[in-house]
Amino acid sequence: MWDTEIRTNLDDIRTRVDVAAAASPYGQSVQVLLATKTQPAEKIRVALEHGFTLIGENRVQELVAKFDELADIAHESHLIGPLQKNKVNHTLGRASCIQSIDDPGLAEKIQRRLDVLDSTVEYFVQVNTSREDSKSGVAPEAAAELVRALAPLDRMRLRGLMTIGLPGETPDQIRPSYAALRTLRDQLHADGLLDETSLELSMGMSGDFELAISEGATMVRVGSSVFGARPKPTI
Ligand SMILES: *Cc1c(COP(=O)(O)O)cnc(C)c1O
Repeated sequence: MWDTEIRTNLDDIRTRVDVAAAASPYGQSVQVLLATKTQPAEKIRVALEHGFTLIGENRVQELVAKFDELADIAHESHLIGPLQKNKVNHTLGRASCIQSIDDPGLAEKIQRRLDVLDSTVEYFVQVNTSREDSKSGVAPEAAAELVRALAPLDRMRLRGLMTIGLPGETPDQIRPSYAALRTLRDQLHADGLLDETSLELSMGMSGDFELAISEGATMVRVGSSVFGARPKPTI
């Protein structure tokens, strides 16, 4: 049955994450976020009931739809895809954390809206460690300036840095973009731009999360290894 398969996959992921975390030289603990893009609410519900209560959506439209469908079951939702300014209002109040902040203008718009709502949100600064033109995220050398610019936004709480990394074939191709995020985090920390509450590293997907953990990931984002190949988007 498809639901048994999801539970088996989740147990397998949990074991592999624990083994990788125990072997990591950084001694970090690791959260698992389920990347649920294109997955129907009924499948996500199985995972939530199995104790995996952190999910991430890429598109605001899907975030909104599934927020309603899953309103009766406790969970936390992050936005892990790009956010357009005109979708800020739909995102706040649904996503507790936005992992794709790479632009001060966007952040200021979020802060203004949070003022109106008298609310707060968590965020990660997304860094384009693989330097591909197609990827969003701030360039590594521009990250310090961005973090400094966002610091006064008192309704937004920085948790750390996020990257998608290079979709490489071999560990040698993939590892540098994850190592680069850790190095950047350590540099920003040394420069006093990140404090102890802002040192998280969101990196690693189904094909490479163990490698990301070995480079210090504190949150991995897995989708296809839990839910299987993605169906075509329906909304
Ligand atoms: C889809 C997605 C993932 C998970 O990818 P899988 O290979 O399915 O595990 C992680 N992060 C982001 C930003 C994604 O869009």
